[in-house]
Amino acid sequence: MKINIDQEKCIGCGTCVAIAPNTFRMNDETNKAEVINPPGDSEEIIKMGVESCPTAAIVIE
Ligand code: SF4
Repeated sequence: MKINIDQEKCIGCGTCVAIAPNTFRMNDETNKAEVINPPGDSEEIIKMGVESCPTAAIVIE
């Protein structure tokens, strides 16, 4: 599974990190989300995080 976060679209809301903390984390310098371990959480949870992103910044390939 390859997960990309569009850094231009990410507004740093933290929702994906709250839902799938083993897959995403907030970058302290950019205040945007990044992928730490794909797939650190179950596919179902990751998909929930993707669908919850308000700007559709996360893309699974
Ligand atoms: S849910 Fe979307 S906008 Fe919010 S931190 Fe994650 S990638 Fe960024």
